[in-house]
Amino acid sequence: MGKFDGKVIIVTGSSSGIGRGTALLLAQQGATLTITGRNTEKLEETKKQLLSAGSTEDKILVVVGDVTKEEDTKRLIAETVNKFGKLDVLVNNAGGATPCDISQPLTVFDDIINQNLRSVLALCQEAIPHLKKTKGNIVNVSSIAGIRAMYTLAYYSIAKAGLDQLNRILAIQLAQDGIRVNNVNPGAIRTDAMPAEAWDVVEESWIKPNTPISRVGQPVEMAHVISFLANNEESSYITGQSIVADGGFSINSPVPPMGPKT
Ligand code: NDP
Repeated sequence: MGKFDGKVIIVTGSSSGIGRGTALLLAQQGATLTITGRNTEKLEETKKQLLSAGSTEDKILVVVGDVTKEEDTKRLIAETVNKFGKLDVLVNNAGGATPCDISQPLTVFDDIINQNLRSVLALCQEAIPHLKKTKGNIVNVSSIAGIRAMYTLAYYSIAKAGLDQLNRILAIQLAQDGIRVNNVNPGAIRTDAMPAEAWDVVEESWIKPNTPISRVGQPVEMAHVISFLANNEESSYITGQSIVADGGFSINSPVPPMGPKT
């Protein structure tokens, strides 16, 4: 018996990285899954991995779509409910950290906000009527960029801060319907968001010196947090929270000039 037996879960951005790792763990825990992204080939690879992990054809729906397009977000929810009859959990993971500072044009701002924030609201609006029926829940993948001001990821940082506030607003508004909403805020997680060589540089030069747990994270480590938040038994009294999973990066502080007493 898995903890998600009989539960229908959508994981956006499950063609790669944290989303794929999450889909894999949830499948191992018994979930029926809709996997989705824009890249058909990568989604098929995720599906292959789910089947190898013990899932079955009847428990997997693949929906190719772009979360920034409203026709696609509507179709994603509708196709899931048509195939599986209900929706228990929406995991809003799709997103991306485009480097930029505030000199970049507003069109860039619009694209980044659409990808990381507006799309989540659109999906929630479509999913909520179905989640009310199942007393389900929502887990959003935010970032520590939402709580720390990362000016080289300026618009992304603003979008994720907005996502953290959307989380709290949704949690309050939906509690009376029995729906919980939570965020996980990852630190640096080794995914396809960057090539392996770039991760090596980031890990050595930035993460190791500044992170108490002196390494980058892995997708499966985020998947376990998402699985916990998505489970109505394990996290029944948690809503509106942003759970930071960053190896301690965001609690660290520049070291004061005086050393420790000897
Ligand atoms: P990846 O690049 O490995 O995966 C991103 C996923 O999002 C892909 O499956 C991609 O699908 C999907 N996606 C992006 N834009 C769209 C879109 N417009 N429509 C549909 N799907 C889309 O990155 P990560 O796994 O690292 O990122 C996952 C989440 O984690 C993001 O929200 C990111 O901001 C967050 N995060 C990641 C961190 C990290 O260090 N890796 C740190 C903090 C937060 P496809 O390409 O098929 O369209």
